[in-house]
Amino acid sequence: MSWYEAIKVAVQVAEKVKDAELHAAMGALRMEGARLAEENAKLRDENRELREKLATRDALEFRENFFWKGQEGPYCPRCYQEHGKASRMTEHRGRYINDYYKCPVCELKLQDPHGTPVEQAPVRRTRGLL
Ligand SMILES: [Zn+2]
Repeated sequence: MSWYEAIKVAVQVAEKVKDAELHAAMGALRMEGARLAEENAKLRDENRELREKLATRDALEFRENFFWKGQEGPYCPRCYQEHGKASRMTEHRGRYINDYYKCPVCELKLQDPHGTPVEQAPVRRTRGLL
């Protein structure tokens, strides 16, 4: 029998006794049980998030201004350092600038391999009209 079922049975028994004070106490017990269940669910979620962050922290390595999981990556340095989140950056072809990586979460753009911000990177020389 779960805690909720046990309280429900106790409330039904208390109703048969017809004692107002007991009935009120059982109602309060039922409310407190619901509050504790909600708090427990919230703590479980928080615990899961912290375990994921810890696993990510152990797995990521900083190389050439990006974070990497072995050969997998790159991961956004801003998202990881500011929020502990591993956001995989996507590769983009620059039309007027060199190719770059962009974070889908914070939209940080960096160029490989040194992680130079796109705004500071030299403009690509074109060989004529594209
Ligand atoms: Zn990011």
